[in-house]
Amino acid sequence: MERVGPGASAPFRVALTFDAEHPDRPTRPGVTDELLDALAAVAARTTWFLQGRWVEAYAPLARRVAADGHLLGNHSFYHARMPLFSADGFATDVSAADEVIRAATGADARPWFRCPFGTGATDPFVLDGLAALGYRSVGWHIDSLDWWPRRRADALEADVVERTIAHGDGAIVLMHGWTTNAAAALPGVLRGLVAAGATFVGLDELDEAAIPTDVDDTYDVPDDLDHLVPA
Ligand SMILES: [Zn+2]
Repeated sequence: MERVGPGASAPFRVALTFDAEHPDRPTRPGVTDELLDALAAVAARTTWFLQGRWVEAYAPLARRVAADGHLLGNHSFYHARMPLFSADGFATDVSAADEVIRAATGADARPWFRCPFGTGATDPFVLDGLAALGYRSVGWHIDSLDWWPRRRADALEADVVERTIAHGDGAIVLMHGWTTNAAAALPGVLRGLVAAGATFVGLDELDEAAIPTDVDDTYDVPDDLDHLVPA
């Protein structure tokens, strides 16, 4: 465990969250284990939102996430935009993810749900549908944009550290369980935040009322964001 260095500010809690889903960008094998290794090296507890189909494909990895002590959430089964479902389709999708997460890890992902792409995070259809299944929507304060291919890992690291410190206690940070940039940046993110006085907590260690349903999309996304261009 790293120690808080001179000049550190008052302790504050940071909830790093990782969405684990089938990649829609190039990546390489082993990234998820690298992320988990980096978290274990500083005994950081975090929250992982698992996509049901991903759990089916990578059950041993899902088991490791749980065994490492991280909190599990549900990231849907198909990773579709949730408002597009019929009411029955919505319940089927969320429940299917719930069941495979439980079968693979033994953990109950309720009440934590993150909407794929953040889509529908404040839509009453989505919120009511989740509530009926024992879930609530979890947004984020800081989007790392770790999936953006043109972003350099060192810039990502500095940016996430700066914005998380600026937010202060209770900051919820969005990262992904498969991006090479996340794996490259995470050790430095952890070092920088620890040096500033951060402790890493699961969402269940925060005041639930203070956890946003919505995503923060106010961050100034770069103009050349190229998510429609095959990388
Ligand atoms: Zn996702």
